[in-house]
Amino acid sequence: MKKTILIIIVLLFINIYAYGSTGYTNISNIALYSNSNLNSDIKSTLKISSKVEIIQQEGEWCKVKTQDGKTGWIEKYFITVPSEKYVVNNTEHSINIRTSPTTGSKQVGQLKPGAKAKYIDTYHSWHIIEYNDNEYYIASWLTDIEYKQSEKIYFLYDKINIRSSASLSSDVAAQGNKNDSFEVVGEENGWYKIRLNDKSYGYVAGWLVTHDLNSYAEEQKNYKKATDSLNVRTGPSSEYNIILALKKGELVKVLASQNGWDKIVTKNGYAGWCNSNYLEEVLPLEGRVILLDPGHGGHDPGSISFSGKYEKHINLDVAFNLKEILNKAGASVYMTRTNDTYITNKDRGRMADKLGADILLSIHHNSLTNSNYFGLSTYYNTINHKDPSYGYNLAEAIYLNAITINGVYRDGILDRNYEVLRETNTPAALIEIGFMSNPKEEMNIHNISFQNTVAEKIADGIIDYFN
Ligand SMILES: [Zn+2]
Repeated sequence: MKKTILIIIVLLFINIYAYGSTGYTNISNIALYSNSNLNSDIKSTLKISSKVEIIQQEGEWCKVKTQDGKTGWIEKYFITVPSEKYVVNNTEHSINIRTSPTTGSKQVGQLKPGAKAKYIDTYHSWHIIEYNDNEYYIASWLTDIEYKQSEKIYFLYDKINIRSSASLSSDVAAQGNKNDSFEVVGEENGWYKIRLNDKSYGYVAGWLVTHDLNSYAEEQKNYKKATDSLNVRTGPSSEYNIILALKKGELVKVLASQNGWDKIVTKNGYAGWCNSNYLEEVLPLEGRVILLDPGHGGHDPGSISFSGKYEKHINLDVAFNLKEILNKAGASVYMTRTNDTYITNKDRGRMADKLGADILLSIHHNSLTNSNYFGLSTYYNTINHKDPSYGYNLAEAIYLNAITINGVYRDGILDRNYEVLRETNTPAALIEIGFMSNPKEEMNIHNISFQNTVAEKIADGIIDYFN
């Protein structure tokens, strides 16, 4: 009798612990398996940044439920689980809870002063919260985020500045190095509030840290191709079961290496191990022609930032940075402008066709009169081309990679009648990296380490698009 009760209690505890735990996939195109082994059937594949609910954990595997209601298994390394957080009202007034991320939407309740609600995500500058068992929106600029329990983060680089407040303009209180670990207690505009060794608090920029030291997402990504027809196995030796065979020339992503074997993921999302003697390194964008378009220029400054800086200059900086990364990945990269000159949007679109480019990416930074707004968005246009391969797929691949950056928030993938996207027969997308009209986001945008991180993730998105 006692034993049965104990088992029930243990089961209840596991269920309570696991229930409602939300995670996001951190690798593009990964299989959802029917069982917790690499040899089982695939139910579907999930894109990077897919939201999943974790139902159960068993060894190296998680059983998950996807947004469209499918259940299946994924290796735990491929899911990043953000810690549980609350949205807290630290003001002296009640704050409205609404059905959509806009002040014009229906009000369903209020968060009273001092009250908190479970934080789910941030979209379009509003926090998504759990309220009356549903997901609703609350203005992010009126509320604070607090962690349910403190969580560890790890520094990604050496000599990272720890500041006295959540801003690049505040004093540097201390520095940390790669793999240093700190406890996070809160979050503000993409910055983490961390507890220092002397028990005081400091702030670090989100894009400089990771939540998961073992995450494949932070490893360097290699691409290899099979030099011959080649078996993919469930483990790193020829004694393991065969899952499938790669065709000669097939491209795979390499995640790890062990005793002459590589852990790989195929184009179709299958993970497994291959003998590395039959894989050779390749540049993932070899033979691709890319036209980058730094928006505005000359007499057209684009947005003017909170501090009075011009968008046209920052667009050009990001384009040069991205060009270098794409070149290293094997692409031939051209730019619509390489200095401060004006070109019509129509000409920019036509340039891609004349060049015979595989894709056109227009680079911009956003602005609004309301300086509270922040977030990253990408755009495509369907007026002349309805087929998603003409813009949507590219806009989506870039967006889903870019929002994996800590401190970058979702602002959507949108169909817009932008001339540069409309007046071309080349698959085209446009990115608005952040709001220059928001003083905090503006500072991130002008920061070199932020620019590098964003350019790397845009490049990852472009690689995903082609593969
Ligand atoms: Zn612009």
